[in-house]
This record gives sequence, C-alpha cells and structure tokens, in this order.
Amino acid sequence: MEQTELLIIGQGPAGLSAAIYAARAGVRTTILGCAPKVAGDYDIDNYFGFEETISGHELIERGKRQATRFGASMRCERVLGLHQDEDGSFVATAEHGEVRAQAVILATGVSRARPGVSNLADYEGKGVSYCVSCDGFFYRNRPVLVAGQGTFAANQALELTNYTPRVTIVTQGKAPTMSADYRARLAEANIPVLERSVVRLEGATAMERAVLDDGTGLDADGLFVAMGEASSLDFAYTLGLERNGVFIQADSEQRTNIPGVYAAGDCVGRFLQIAVAVGEGAKAGRAAIEHVKARRKAA
Ligand SMILES: Cc1cc2nc3c(=O)[nH]c(=O)nc-3n(C[C@H](O)[C@H](O)[C@H](O)COP(=O)(O)OP(=O)(O)OC[C@H]3O[C@@H](n4cnc5c(N)ncnc54)[C@H](O)[C@@H]3O)c2cc1C
Repeated sequence: MEQTELLIIGQGPAGLSAAIYAARAGVRTTILGCAPKVAGDYDIDNYFGFEETISGHELIERGKRQATRFGASMRCERVLGLHQDEDGSFVATAEHGEVRAQAVILATGVSRARPGVSNLADYEGKGVSYCVSCDGFFYRNRPVLVAGQGTFAANQALELTNYTPRVTIVTQGKAPTMSADYRARLAEANIPVLERSVVRLEGATAMERAVLDDGTGLDADGLFVAMGEASSLDFAYTLGLERNGVFIQADSEQRTNIPGVYAAGDCVGRFLQIAVAVGEGAKAGRAAIEHVKARRKAA
C-alpha cells in the first residue's frame, strides 16, 4: 500500500495551500484530487497580490507548481472512502488503490449532487442513506438501490454486497461513467445498472418501493445516494466527523473532532472564497505538521 505522512484530499486553493506549508516543512505530502471548478476560464479579480485579473486556471497552475517545488506529489485521482486503522493512521481508498497516511486534510470543496427524487427528504433515515459504511448493515439481505452513475456509485454498490446480494444501480437517467473494470466487477456481483431515474419513493412508515420515470415500481427498502463523487460529507459519515449541516465542523485551527483529521476551505462553509480557503489551508497544514511530528516521535 502507498505510504505517505500527510494526505490532502482536494487540489483546490485550500489543499494546495496546505501542501505548500506541509511539504516546505519536510512532511511527506500527497495530494489526491482533480482540477477544481474555479480552474476553468474564470476571471479572478479579488485575490490579494494580483493587480491584474488572473484566470482561475493560471492561479491553480501556479499553486500546483509551487507545491511541487517543495516536494508535494499530486495526481488527479478520486478518493472514494476513508477510514482510521487501530494504530491511528488513516487509509484512503482511491480509484487506483489505497493510501495510508498519518494525518489527513479534507479540502474537497462543496458539491453535492442531488438525485432529483421528489420526496427524498421524507424518507431520509427511513430508507434514504448517504453512507454504505454507516447504514449498509441495516439492509442485510434486503433489496436496495444505489443512485448514481460514476465510480463512486459502483464502489458503494460493491460495498453493499457485504450486506445484501440484492443491489441495483439506477443512474438517474445519466450515461454510466464508471470504468470498464468497475462494470465488469458489477456484472460479476450481479448488480444491474439501470439507465433510468427514480422519481418518487413510496412506503407507509419507511421506504418500500421506488417509482421510476417510466412509471414502473421497483421493490426496494433502501436508496443509497452516490451521485457525483465522494464528498467531504461522505467521509464525514464514515469517520464519524461532526458536521454543521452540509459542512464539516472545524475549529479555528481547522481541527475536526477526530485527531489527525483537518478540514479547510469551502468544505467547512463560512465565507466561500479563495482567500479564505488559502488561509484555512495554511492553518490546516500547520496543524497537520504538528500531528505528523508527534506521530514520528511516538513511532
Ligand atoms: C466559477 C467560479 C468562480 C469563482 N470565482 C471566485 C472569485 O472570483 N474569487 C473568489 O475568491 N472565489 C471564487 N470562487 C469560489 C472559489 O473558487 C472557492 O471558494 C475555492 O475554490 C474553494 O477552494 P477549496 O480548495 O476549498 O475547494 P475547491 O476549489 O472546490 O476544490 C475542491 C477540490 O477537491 C477535490 N475533490 C472533491 N471531492 C474529492 C474526492 N472525493 N477525492 C479527491 N478529490 C476530491 C476536487 O477535485 C478539487 O480539487 C469561484 C468559484 C467558482 C465555481
């Protein structure tokens, strides 16, 4: 398994800023994440030090080069899950393998695609779940659906087979984007992938059925939402991180309630701006450096 000291999840301003501090302090730093939204052809006019407008693309490229100069390694790879081992280290399951780290900074920004099910909220906690690791156990041998079209949905569906063989993926009308390897693993696990949409849920006191866009009903006791990619919120559910609505709860030093896990930037809410993300990333980097040093001493 790949080993690092600090794993940063997110390659936006918060993650890159944290990486610059940590790598510059001699901490082995790995960043997983792809180009953030702002790295497109957008004009940034309010970031300190750039008298002339700079494009989001150029700003992020500069940040990446700077973090690389200090030794941070980075690649465009999605993290699908994160858990803590008994020895206190963290293991991230990414698209191409696992990474073990002594500290983790969540800098995953905000984006949570909703599946567009009309009465989803009515069944949250009564069938609708966002976390297989947390709730899969409650659906042993029962029929369940996973809403999503990508690798994250495939991964969640495969994880569900630890609890039940009766798993179906519904892509919410989108073309599946999971890799051929994942498609093969789904086929082997007998998990159908339906290119339809769940539009409504039914059930007296808890979910019993999903109604599809063509009017057919699918018997299912659970709907696991796995649209888009894993977000901070998904990691929060698995790790038991305290949340503040859709954001991760972090103190003024960017510490979460789990020692060794820090959160910075848009994923903690507050003022969703580059300057704030960069500042919080710096603080998270500093806190993570201290944690890594303490772990080195204890080893
Ligand atoms: C179009 C647009 C224009 C903007 N203009 C401005 C502006 O002019 N000025 C300003 O101050 N702010 C602007 N913002 C807001 C600003 O971009 C954000 O506040 C800032 O980017 C937040 O930084 P972040 O690092 O917290 O998150 P993001 O920049 O959103 O980066 C999140 C990172 O997390 C990664 N990620 C997410 N999930 C996973 C996962 N499961 N595994 C691995 N990686 C993951 C993503 O790939 C990405 O690299 C703009 C935003 C947008 C979208």
